[in-house]
Amino acid sequence: MKIALLALLQTAWLAAAPLPPIKLGDPAQSNAETRFLDREAFQAAVREMPKTELHTHLEGAVRPETILELAEVYQVDLGASNVEELKKKIQMRPGENLLDFLKKFDPFRFVFDHPESLRRVAYEMVEEEAREGVVYSEIRINPVKREDKLSIDGVLDAVLEGMHQASEDYAIESRLIVSLNRSYPLESAMRVARAAAARKDRGVVGLDLAGDEVHHPASKFKEVFDYAQSQGLHITIHAGEAVGPDSIRQALEVCHAERIGHGVRLGEDPAVLQEVARRQATLEMCPSSNLLINVVKDLKSYPLMTYAHQGIPVTISTDDRHIFDLTLTGEYMAMAEQCGLSLQDLEKISLNGIRSSFLPELEKARLEARWRERMDALWSGLSP
Ligand SMILES: [Zn+2]
Repeated sequence: MKIALLALLQTAWLAAAPLPPIKLGDPAQSNAETRFLDREAFQAAVREMPKTELHTHLEGAVRPETILELAEVYQVDLGASNVEELKKKIQMRPGENLLDFLKKFDPFRFVFDHPESLRRVAYEMVEEEAREGVVYSEIRINPVKREDKLSIDGVLDAVLEGMHQASEDYAIESRLIVSLNRSYPLESAMRVARAAAARKDRGVVGLDLAGDEVHHPASKFKEVFDYAQSQGLHITIHAGEAVGPDSIRQALEVCHAERIGHGVRLGEDPAVLQEVARRQATLEMCPSSNLLINVVKDLKSYPLMTYAHQGIPVTISTDDRHIFDLTLTGEYMAMAEQCGLSLQDLEKISLNGIRSSFLPELEKARLEARWRERMDALWSGLSP
């Protein structure tokens, strides 16, 4: 019976059937093949699910507790004496906007001035992801900090060391994406791209573009992304968040983006949507981030499954987990509760993260095999 049911689940999943056998929903619709979980059991399953995260900034993932400890070490006055006071300064609250968001990072910029603290926060970020069942993560950082304190090379090397150590200590694979700010002059952007390419064999897999989408179009950086592509770096670009689908088109057509960060406004232009589907460019969607920065008005109408049903690979990420006070498990749950995603939808989304990762094909296949084993164990535990 168990085997037959598992086979049924597998078949349904392979066919990407929208009807899940295990679903958070209305028990009145229950039938022989359908089992409903209460919220607690569903959340436990999501926590146990091997998850993937492709869009997460180290700058936004520093634990408040760690900031307090490091402030003591480096004798920095945070203007906060405990975690609750600090959270009021560095976490987004409803009603705040993008300008408020940008100021959240000011109190703890000192963390990025020292190799020791960078190694620690990179380690802790990977550790935190592993503890909530993330099996693969692509972390990103903008390495241009206060260069009089620590060079671009110094930042990248310290972060990679921290990530590698955590990956050895926990059951998680992690890679680094180097992020450029759209406000940079071309020359600085090229310097960052060179530093990224030089670390291709040490865990750097891609180049990203982030920042003010309104005033700095991606096309300004064509030369930099031509170089990145020639060096074998993968490319993802934040687009379709503050600006509409034109920004996404530019990222794809001018700057070789293979994935789009956010892309939440893609649906405003059916032609661009079709092009994203044709290219199978993955959207790195960050639901609560979009809600808290007022890009979307609620999560109920969040377009993740609308895009998925158009054949576009979608993924779910936290973006800045400690600024928004999020976990990936919480984001998966939010999409289940607000948009009706089933466990099977979430499974597919997690798998999309592996298939759209910037790993070499052989490593992807190995990771997928390990992921499949853990996923099968989860389904097996849920079967009657
Ligand atoms: Zn982002």
